[in-house]
Amino acid sequence: MKPAAFDYVAPTSVEEAVAALSGAGGDAKVLAGGQSLVPLMNLRLAKPAVVVDINRVAGLDGVTVRSGFLSVGALVRHADLAAHPDVAGWPLLRDALELIGHPAIRNRGTVGGSIAHADPAAELPGVLRVLGGSVVAAGPNGSREIAADDLFLGYLTTALEAEEILTEVRFPALPAGAGSAFVEFARRHGDFALVGAAVVVALREGGQVGEARLCLIGVGPGPVAVDMGGLQGKPATEATWAAGGELAAAACDPDSDLHAPAEYRRQLASVMTARALALAAPRASEPRR
Ligand SMILES: Cc1cc2nc3c(=O)[nH]c(=O)nc-3n(C[C@H](O)[C@H](O)[C@H](O)COP(=O)(O)OP(=O)(O)OC[C@H]3O[C@@H](n4cnc5c(N)ncnc54)[C@H](O)[C@@H]3O)c2cc1C
Repeated sequence: MKPAAFDYVAPTSVEEAVAALSGAGGDAKVLAGGQSLVPLMNLRLAKPAVVVDINRVAGLDGVTVRSGFLSVGALVRHADLAAHPDVAGWPLLRDALELIGHPAIRNRGTVGGSIAHADPAAELPGVLRVLGGSVVAAGPNGSREIAADDLFLGYLTTALEAEEILTEVRFPALPAGAGSAFVEFARRHGDFALVGAAVVVALREGGQVGEARLCLIGVGPGPVAVDMGGLQGKPATEATWAAGGELAAAACDPDSDLHAPAEYRRQLASVMTARALALAAPRASEPRR
């Protein structure tokens, strides 16, 4: 299928891009990697009057370690970020990037596009939420920072305004000594995950769980953060990881769809969480006495 007719603009600065969005009266779409927008337009599920192609906008392709977080420009491609030397310090992000689609998707798809698109089964929104990250958005009134907890509002919906462009994604570093893991289940290699679990675990002196964080994907309208306070003080054992899985299953409320019934997704949430905790804990280092 072919998309409906649209006007195409290719600004070279953030200000021009914001002006183009503002001038379209809410009927414009930003084009980044096009891996999600173009199929939606071809299927006529999206029919924007104006497409604002930001690929020529300068200054959106940097990767920089800042105080406590990795700053990733919105236009950085998944594959380029995965290959970037600084990502070694962000192992959860590195693990998640390898799970996104196929090499062709990762070569074109952008970090900003994945966050702005907010697919409930996308990996990067889950990573951003479990790390307590944020994004920077530029609009007609300047720039603002939006915390991940306030960003994801529902299915394919974020707190970004129609005339705003996401310019930067900020991934905080793991707490000192913490371990992390991203585990997911997809029916075929390269498919969107049915369910995935992004986990961060810090251990106390003596090996008990100090802090555990979990964000699930594929079980709700967006990335689902789960309160794992119930694991605090428990020993780092298989029984504790299984208990974490039960917390995850109880906290999520997936829908049934053509890919999987709700109960299957809930069971996957439990199993993916237990596996992720078991992987993350040995990666954590106990505090020194
Ligand atoms: C076959 C296939 C398999 C895939 N598998 C996965 C997968 O397993 N995991 C996964 O996470 N993703 C997957 N994807 C999606 C892929 O990661 C996309 O790259 C991503 O969802 C969107 O990024 P993009 O740069 O292509 O954005 P685009 O398609 O260009 O845009 C997507 C949406 O975000 C908006 N947008 C983009 N950038 C900005 C910005 N800077 N500011 C404001 N709005 C913006 C657009 O207006 C549009 O609404 C898959 C895609 C395909 C086609």
